[in-house]
Amino acid sequence: MKINIILSVLISALLFSCNSQPKEAFDLLIIHANVVDVANGEVYADQFIGISQDTIRIVSTNAALSEYKAADTLDAAGAYLMPGLWDNHVHFRGGDSLIAENKTLLPLFLANGITTVREAGGDITPTVLDWKAQIRKGELSGPDIFTSGPKLDGDGWSWEGSIPVTNKEEVSKALDSLQKLKVDFVKIYDGSITPEMYYEIISQASKRGFKVTGHMPMDADLNKAVALGLDGIEHLYYLMPQGSAVADSIRDLKIGFQGLPLLTETYDNDLAEKNFRSLAEKNIYVTATLYISNVLFNIPTMDLDSKTYLKYMGPGIQKTYERRIKTAMNMSEKSKAYNRKRIEKFNEMIPPIYDSGIHILAGSDCGAFNSFVYPGVSLIEELRELVKQGLTPQQALSASMINGPGFFDLSEYYGDIAPGKVGNLIVLEKNPLEDIEAIKTLEAVIKNGKTFSKDMLEKMLSEVVYD
Ligand SMILES: [Zn+2]
Repeated sequence: MKINIILSVLISALLFSCNSQPKEAFDLLIIHANVVDVANGEVYADQFIGISQDTIRIVSTNAALSEYKAADTLDAAGAYLMPGLWDNHVHFRGGDSLIAENKTLLPLFLANGITTVREAGGDITPTVLDWKAQIRKGELSGPDIFTSGPKLDGDGWSWEGSIPVTNKEEVSKALDSLQKLKVDFVKIYDGSITPEMYYEIISQASKRGFKVTGHMPMDADLNKAVALGLDGIEHLYYLMPQGSAVADSIRDLKIGFQGLPLLTETYDNDLAEKNFRSLAEKNIYVTATLYISNVLFNIPTMDLDSKTYLKYMGPGIQKTYERRIKTAMNMSEKSKAYNRKRIEKFNEMIPPIYDSGIHILAGSDCGAFNSFVYPGVSLIEELRELVKQGLTPQQALSASMINGPGFFDLSEYYGDIAPGKVGNLIVLEKNPLEDIEAIKTLEAVIKNGKTFSKDMLEKMLSEVVYD
């Protein structure tokens, strides 16, 4: 199926051959669309949508179409229209020398239907904030960006650009600097943050109105963190203690990540389900990042198919892959056996987490250093993975484009196709509620009132190929 963008002149002639006067003019009219209501699992046939600037102004049946006109019209010809996808965990990083290569990642998101990313910490924050502003104004093509800016960590931080905090005053100063930068949320990392400082960040940041998420020192207690105002947790490691009756004793050993095999051994589904339900009451968001676990584990046996997207990665970013490749190649048999078990456990945790009412966020963790987890396609793989582990396509899609804005309390503006909502939309040939594979049938992306046809998206991709 091909989508035709018809110029206003043509459309005016078509629409106003009848005598009625047009009521309202839009920048873009999308006609003959099957509107996908992800939240309710419904499809509304033969709708038209009027968009001005970046906002949806009207959604109605095609019968009323003659009363409206627009500068551009997109005939969806029965294709499926839904809000653009959110990748809720990405990174732009690698230092100033990799800024140009990071910039060429932006089209990869759009070309896969991702219109928003939540950037979970890096070391090129001023540049990322510039891109964010340019994208919002329509001067740069890419997904809308929500960024945490620099991560907060301890003295022996893990990632370049992190802000170390070791006492209350430093936490306060760090949050001052984040507020000055105007970042969108706070990301904590567990390189060397102490449980005390972890709690301190959460409590100070929450008081300032920041959303807070991140890793967690394994010697800290998630329930206490959530009670202090923690909004989210990145990766499933930190939920493991919820399933272990001896979690408190393991925590008291203060052995950090070394306690994980023991937590895996003692993991009990019933206990986990009970504890997940009480976490869910606190409105918590969990980014599962299942796909990256598989990719990093499978590096030694990776097939060539997984490397076809390498051509979109600059040489500098490819060089950052070496660290994780080395780790994967040198993994002992014992570690391999444990990691295999852990990955299985993470997969099994998805349905009970979902059923408990905890909000699952779909995020890829793509970016420099995270080897072979390519921006764009990796979010599609994450959605496939969530479905493979038991979510319906509707639930997996919600984890991307409904829970993404939910984390930021922005559900009023995103998540469905209705007047007043942001008009970041994607057009799919097939119905994504029936089969998650439909997400690969992308025909167009609408962003900032601009339509990126399939041809335009392919052209954007061809321009970012490195030789
Ligand atoms: Zn990450």
